[in-house]
Amino acid sequence: MFKIAKYPNPVLRKTAKLVGDFNDDLKKLADNMAKVMYEDDGIGLAAPQVSKSLRLIVVGLGYGEYKTYVNPDITFFSKEKTTTDEGCLSLPKIFANVIRPKKIHIKYYNLDGELQKEKLKGMDAVILQHEVDHLNGILFIDRAEKINQGQEILDSLKKQLDDKAK
Ligand SMILES: [Zn+2]
Repeated sequence: MFKIAKYPNPVLRKTAKLVGDFNDDLKKLADNMAKVMYEDDGIGLAAPQVSKSLRLIVVGLGYGEYKTYVNPDITFFSKEKTTTDEGCLSLPKIFANVIRPKKIHIKYYNLDGELQKEKLKGMDAVILQHEVDHLNGILFIDRAEKINQGQEILDSLKKQLDDKAK
């Protein structure tokens, strides 16, 4: 079983690589990611969060079901924004308000390598933007306009990171 990579693990800051092979290993990886996500009560998970630097995302659909987004590309962001109290399995017990476009269009591949297009809004749009950020080494705390919970935890994690850099 995978372990979730927690901030400040450097894998979370890497730009993930494009998936090239739509093989059984990819399906297995997505399936294992979904299991870890459900175990930790997450609603979305990006491969870098299990220390695999690949452009692969799973999103929970409830009851153990999940949807996979391979090599996702957000092609449209609405001007209209929405504010959400976001959290992340890689930053437990930290919650923050993040302002994001309310609607997006996304292109991606399914596990069979077929190109898909979707228009998302509301929570689905927020989840996908949060997860695509992970593929680019961006975390929700980078975009946070206000930390709602866990400021002290975040301060001590950031201090760990600063101490390492010294
Ligand atoms: Zn996250």
